[in-house]
Amino acid sequence: MGWWCSNTATLYFDNCRVPAENLLGVEGKGFLSIMNNFNYERIGMASAALGSSKLCLAEATAYALERRTFGKPLVKHQVIAHKIADMSIRIDALEALVNQVCWGAESGTMPVAEICKAKVFGSKVFEYCASEAMQIFGGAGYLRGNLVEHVRVKVNAIGGGSEEKMKDLAVRQMGL
Ligand SMILES: Cc1cc2nc3c(=O)[nH]c(=O)nc-3n(C[C@H](O)[C@H](O)[C@H](O)COP(=O)(O)OP(=O)(O)OC[C@H]3O[C@@H](n4cnc5c(N)ncnc54)[C@H](O)[C@@H]3O)c2cc1C
Repeated sequence: MGWWCSNTATLYFDNCRVPAENLLGVEGKGFLSIMNNFNYERIGMASAALGSSKLCLAEATAYALERRTFGKPLVKHQVIAHKIADMSIRIDALEALVNQVCWGAESGTMPVAEICKAKVFGSKVFEYCASEAMQIFGGAGYLRGNLVEHVRVKVNAIGGGSEEKMKDLAVRQMGL
């Protein structure tokens, strides 16, 4: 649904022999490697959600400046201006969280709970911004051709660890 260039398929490795020198990491410790990789994947997904949310805001704002209804640009209608403010507030908050999480990861203390929370918050902010951007475009938002059509929201809430599991893990990391 949407990620057309990233196909999904079942791979079988029946009777597949791999030479010992091709071992990645330490034998028996693969799960730890996967978990560590997840931290970076989730930071990447929160960051991608931030970038995509910014795209939605920029595109919707440009349209709201250009499109006129009832004698004035859309952006001069308070309801539309507030949508832009609400998107911008969430984006600012997400950006601050993503920066904090990146700083933590770079400084060597992997902030797992915050990474999980950032991934959930990222997908929620992205979902909100994509929806509001489409709404600002009105009927044009449902037509092919605008950039907002190309954002892929739902996979962010599932791939790399679903929102539900991210919350579970965050709470466990909080010692609860
Ligand atoms: C486009 C796409 C690309 C992907 N790419 C990769 C990839 O490259 N590599 C890779 O390894 N994986 C990849 N995934 C897999 C992805 O990580 C899983 O789809 C995701 O973790 C959810 O697992 P599931 O699909 O088995 O859902 P399920 O585990 O069956 O969950 C179904 C629903 O139930 C909820 N749920 C499950 N268990 C619980 C629980 N204990 N408590 C509460 N709620 C629960 C889930 O949150 C979800 O809403 C990709 C997925 C997608 C959609």
